[in-house]
Amino acid sequence: MKNNILITGGAGFIGSHLVQFFVKNYSDYNIINLDLLTYASNIDNLNNISNHENYTFIKLDICNYNEIKKIFSDYKISHVIHLAAESHVDRSIQDPFSFAKTNVLGTLSLLQAAKEYWHLEKDNNLFYHVSTDEVFGSLGNTGAFSEESKYDPHSPYSASKASSDHFVRSFKDTYNLPIKISNCSNNYGPNQNTEKLIPTIIKNICNEKKLPIYGDGTNVRDWLYVEDHVKAIDKIFHHGRLGETYNIGGNNEWSNIDLVKRLIEIIDLKLNKPKGYSKKLITFIEDRKGHDFRYAIDGKKIEMELGWKPETNFDEGLERTINSYISS
Ligand code: NAD
Repeated sequence: MKNNILITGGAGFIGSHLVQFFVKNYSDYNIINLDLLTYASNIDNLNNISNHENYTFIKLDICNYNEIKKIFSDYKISHVIHLAAESHVDRSIQDPFSFAKTNVLGTLSLLQAAKEYWHLEKDNNLFYHVSTDEVFGSLGNTGAFSEESKYDPHSPYSASKASSDHFVRSFKDTYNLPIKISNCSNNYGPNQNTEKLIPTIIKNICNEKKLPIYGDGTNVRDWLYVEDHVKAIDKIFHHGRLGETYNIGGNNEWSNIDLVKRLIEIIDLKLNKPKGYSKKLITFIEDRKGHDFRYAIDGKKIEMELGWKPETNFDEGLERTINSYISS
């Protein structure tokens, strides 16, 4: 039986890289990309594969349960990799309802449709839920999140993702749904919406606009190149144990202020500006409400079990990212 893989959110940042990877590397799988095409998406990032025989695009809201049910039976969906979500923390602070709707009810709608359809099909099925390390809350100066870390979300975004993780696990425990979950640290790379930190800073340095930094800039994030995340998803999808959770991290912690200074160094050099020229654009703004201080991932489980480690050197990844935004 052919694998018919439903990837949700495939027109977004991480989804676009994942869809490219699966369409190109697995010509014997049918890849069905389902995305509502919200402001965060860019379907043009998939123009190069739009005519591939093993690729189909469907514009649909994951919350539309009746239509989602129909997609499962029309396309004989055997596997789901679920990425569709509202993903920007700042927006979740302004409008928490849309996060609860898409991230919680949307996930539930997919789970229920999978449960109903796979009840008939049974074999060779998987619901893989892509989640974030933000569900674990905030760390102090030391330590790292493991798969056993307690859930402690602080923003409406992370609370909605935490809730979706719980629903996925509840479908395993209650209905025996075959699931896997991964919780990943901050991604960077081409195709990310320009409202997020790294694209905003790149665009603003190029346009000599203010570089807004929350609080005193000491908040720490662990950055992973998006294509490394895709390779981790691929490993977990094919070789991860059913019912398990895997943490994915970059082993690459940067405070926001140091990251912005590094971007300034690289971009000023690229644009032939004097060393440190754009530092004057750094502008500290009122801290984000509920701002987590530090995230870090203990990646032992995925490394030991699946042999996955981040591959991309940070400067190399930043170079590729910067080039993609400068040329777009
Ligand atoms: P994104 O915002 O770039 O893309 C989300 C995609 O989902 C968009 O294409 C959007 O159109 C689609 N979408 C939104 N609402 C929808 C709906 N109701 N129905 C169908 N499609 C809908 O997000 P991203 O950064 O690519 O993140 C993808 C997933 O990975 C999310 O679940 C996110 O929580 C998770 N994640 C992201 C990061 C990160 O650093 N970006 C890190 C860890 C986990």
